[in-house]
Amino acid sequence: MNDLVIRNASLPDGRKGIDIAIQDGRISAVGVALPVSAAEEINANGNLVTPPFVDAHFHMDAVLSYGLPRVNQSGTLLEGIALWGELKPILTQEALIERALRYCDWAVARGLLAIRSHVDICDDRLLAVEALLEVKRRVAPYLDLQLVAFPQDGILRSPTAMANLKRAIAMGVDVVGGIPHFERTMADGAESVRLLCEFAAEQGLRVDMHCDESDDPMSRHIETLAYHSNRLGLHGRVAGSHLTSMHSMDNYYVSKLLPLIREAGVAAIANPLINITLQGRHDTYPKRRGMTRVPEMLAAGIDVAFGHDCVMDPWYSLGSGDMLEVAQMGLHVGQMTGQAAMRQCFDAVTETPARILGLEAYGLQAGCFADLVLLDASDTIEALRLRSARLLVLRRGKVISQTPAPHANLHLPGRPSHIEFRTKN
Ligand SMILES: [Zn+2]
Repeated sequence: MNDLVIRNASLPDGRKGIDIAIQDGRISAVGVALPVSAAEEINANGNLVTPPFVDAHFHMDAVLSYGLPRVNQSGTLLEGIALWGELKPILTQEALIERALRYCDWAVARGLLAIRSHVDICDDRLLAVEALLEVKRRVAPYLDLQLVAFPQDGILRSPTAMANLKRAIAMGVDVVGGIPHFERTMADGAESVRLLCEFAAEQGLRVDMHCDESDDPMSRHIETLAYHSNRLGLHGRVAGSHLTSMHSMDNYYVSKLLPLIREAGVAAIANPLINITLQGRHDTYPKRRGMTRVPEMLAAGIDVAFGHDCVMDPWYSLGSGDMLEVAQMGLHVGQMTGQAAMRQCFDAVTETPARILGLEAYGLQAGCFADLVLLDASDTIEALRLRSARLLVLRRGKVISQTPAPHANLHLPGRPSHIEFRTKN
């Protein structure tokens, strides 16, 4: 007998009326009218069941620090970085841990069960690194937290950054970060990419750099990142975050760049909420959107994920850990309103970032972890439209969060908007 069976679910790939059986924390079978018995049964009533949301780009050391020590008056990236510089010396480990844990609770309630967070390693005390490693350990039963050693002040520009980054990796941080566009010159930026990719290759680690987060069409560090990924055989292990300069690049150059990124197996992570608010700030009108070329990269066979990046911190005063909000903004900014394109936007906050993070046993096949979200929606497009309630969130086959369905009248007529529990005794 199985521990649990979910009956009559719709799946993100469009299949309807599907049962999902769960045994020992993993999916044991998926199919129509499964002839299995289970200790507990949930009738999904045709609602969407998906693997959990995954955020490929976040800053958990800054989360929920809005207003500390003051708010960002201009709302710009540079004032945000300056503000973070003011906040860093007064951070305490207790406060960092408390804020991060609070955010992880928000995340779970929204079905977000895996987060890749950058952690600034430019503070020689590595206070935030220690705090987030502790958070990673504490949340592990319910959320996968992957950490990136992020040199906010530049790996070459900040004299102790490279040594700190190596210390952070030795302490247990998972991924090598970088910020080539923040180095002093284009040449230094390129050199930082080489050094960091070589270090990652030596250590067998993944790479995720803040790359070309500017409106400068000549910021071409993504080319260098793809070149070294290819040269060092890092295919499938490297991501370029933001890549906003690509929005403003010359089209001919981009036609050569896209196949290079594809061949190097480099993934792209756009951060739509942040890109649309921070980019184009030097423009009058027309004002650029700034988000990278998402549909074009997808068409070229490049993996593209959407990240949340910030929630209530020096750079962004809004956000709630809702990856459907992130995907919805990406959909609008990228004008991805076709049916297939909208489904790709859903994938960009689920399957694609799971692949970028290298999450183990993620998905809806037999053998995958029974980490599932039951949404108050009939399909992925309705989920995006309504930012639907996450009725149930399951981790390893156990319900860890429940939210009631609020807007029953917003659904298509005739679709029930509820679920049923039944326990066999
Ligand atoms: Zn970031």
